[in-house]
Amino acid sequence: MNFADLGLSDELLAAVTDAGYSEPTPIQASAIPSVLMMRDMIGIAQTGTGKTASFVLPMIDILAHGRSRARMPRSLILEPTRELAAQVAENFEKYGKNHKLSMALLIGGVSMGDQIKALEKGVDVLIATPGRLMDLFGRGNILLTGCSLLVIDEADRMLDMGFIPDIEEICTKLPANRQTLLFSATMPPPIKKLADKFLSNPKTIEVARPASTNINITQALVPVSGGAYGKREVLRQLLRTVEVRNAIIFCNRKTTVRELNKSLKSHGFRSGEIHGDMEQPQRLAELDLFKSGEINILVASDVAARGLDIKGVSHVFNFDAPWHPDDYVHRIGRTGRAGATGTAYTLVTTEDEENITNIEKLTGQTINRLDLNASAGAAGGDKEEKATPDRAQAGDRRRGGRGRKEEAREQPRPSREAAPRASERPRRDRDRREDDEADYNGGWNGPVPEFLHATIAIS
Ligand code: ADP
Ligand code: MG
Repeated sequence: MNFADLGLSDELLAAVTDAGYSEPTPIQASAIPSVLMMRDMIGIAQTGTGKTASFVLPMIDILAHGRSRARMPRSLILEPTRELAAQVAENFEKYGKNHKLSMALLIGGVSMGDQIKALEKGVDVLIATPGRLMDLFGRGNILLTGCSLLVIDEADRMLDMGFIPDIEEICTKLPANRQTLLFSATMPPPIKKLADKFLSNPKTIEVARPASTNINITQALVPVSGGAYGKREVLRQLLRTVEVRNAIIFCNRKTTVRELNKSLKSHGFRSGEIHGDMEQPQRLAELDLFKSGEINILVASDVAARGLDIKGVSHVFNFDAPWHPDDYVHRIGRTGRAGATGTAYTLVTTEDEENITNIEKLTGQTINRLDLNASAGAAGGDKEEKATPDRAQAGDRRRGGRGRKEEAREQPRPSREAAPRASERPRRDRDRREDDEADYNGGWNGPVPEFLHATIAIS
């Protein structure tokens, strides 16, 4: 299958060639023709499978004709986080270089003056996080009545962040006879409901079973005793013995992110951090250092877990097993992207065991446990071999795929409310704040003063 077979324009094909892509990924091959036919669509594919281009490319051709009007964007793409929104904007710039489309990015945390000016002039593509869009809509800076194409990207992440009510409201502001595309790595019931309500006769394209982990990712659990101290020691041992070109290390708490980064630095590692307590420019600066290779370890909270397109991450480490099993799939999806292979290690103390059980239930697979003491003595080059589980596991999973798919679906999903932090305050507030503003809650479990819920106003 070739990009040229998908019905895209010559200008667009030239930009795709310049981007260095020779073949469409499976989701791109199935999605692009039906988007061009103006159909509503649900695209389900695991992280790193190229979902962005599967809507950006056909959108560029669709929008190539027609003109924008002041404050009336012609299309809208909703993204759960600022980083993802910025990435989609980069995609539009890359693929749209032979077109004259105008674009505005509406995200929290950065100065929006220019974007509002762009909106005033009229834009073909508006890329936004739901919170910021609702703010501006409320002020009358945007009219959505001319918006004939809507993309809801990373829908399961939107759900986790409590954005579904906002999305529902946004959907009602758009014209009814629009085209709507929804993308997600997993399809939990609330997303299904959203799709039933706001998409009409959608074509469903599913290229992998929901909540499956990428077969290019080798996974292992590393049992650890001795709490956080023991984990830091084992992590250093792993970082020194396996061939880590670059790694993202996920922690469940922001305080852990900070502590771990400090500790790694003091042990001579080139590491940085990214979490919800940081201002947006700071986060982007840290990401840039990581992308450029100036640092090769990025310690992260789940804010950075989904969709961040960082090419060629060789390893993902879960310093903690995530509370929500979906997050596991997304965290490890940072490696093994677009056909490359990667390795994901999860450090496991007794506190993590319950989360591991839930992860294994969701993905329908048992993750190999490493005996680090057995492999630690092995010599240099072949340590990676010894320290990683057999890839045959992936084959097993594929063969057993069908049966287990049903099994995985029927498993009652572990209650999100069971997560420790869920009891602190309503999920929607908590996660929106984590996305849209610096989180004040480092280590504080007491009542939250009301003024901290305020959003930063933009003029
Ligand atoms: P998803 O949204 O499914 O998680 P992305 O759209 O972010 O995935 O794409 C993941 C990576 O794959 C990106 O680095 C992107 O540049 C790359 N990619 C996308 N399409 C192709 C393609 N056809 N060939 C090679 N690489 C691709
Ligand atoms: Mg994506």
